[in-house]
Amino acid sequence: MYRIGQSSDVHRFIEGEYLTLGGVKIDAPFAVDAHSDGDALVHAIAEAILGALAKRDLGTHFSDTAQENENRNSLEILAEVVQIMEREGYKIGNVDSLIMIETPKMAPYNAQMKENLARVLHCDTNQVNVKATRGEKVGFVGRQEGVLAQAVVLLQRRNENE
Ligand SMILES: [Zn+2]
Repeated sequence: MYRIGQSSDVHRFIEGEYLTLGGVKIDAPFAVDAHSDGDALVHAIAEAILGALAKRDLGTHFSDTAQENENRNSLEILAEVVQIMEREGYKIGNVDSLIMIETPKMAPYNAQMKENLARVLHCDTNQVNVKATRGEKVGFVGRQEGVLAQAVVLLQRRNENE
């Protein structure tokens, strides 16, 4: 038994010096406007898992006004979503994801992102893919106004005999 889910997340850039993507702190000429740490990649993956489970969206489970989520490490949010997934009897089949950002280059951080994600998702790094592309100077990504992340996840029943 398999279930598929997808999602995307956008965060606007504000003045700052770093951003967090895939749980990696990345030096950048800006920061993101967010209640949590603004990790668009982790938010997209977490919401794609909720989608696969037909459990609404991230905002339903994690309020963006609640004090407990202020400046929160998004990997903690993902860990709670993984708990929901496991309670429902599923594990990660694979995750494919895409970051759209004009600058900086994501390649130096790719391996660390995959490691962080696989650890929290309780799977191997070869089940998690992170791609990145630029906005080619057009749209909000190309104008360096924000970052967009997309994710697709396939969930697999933990016990195939169930
Ligand atoms: Zn977000």
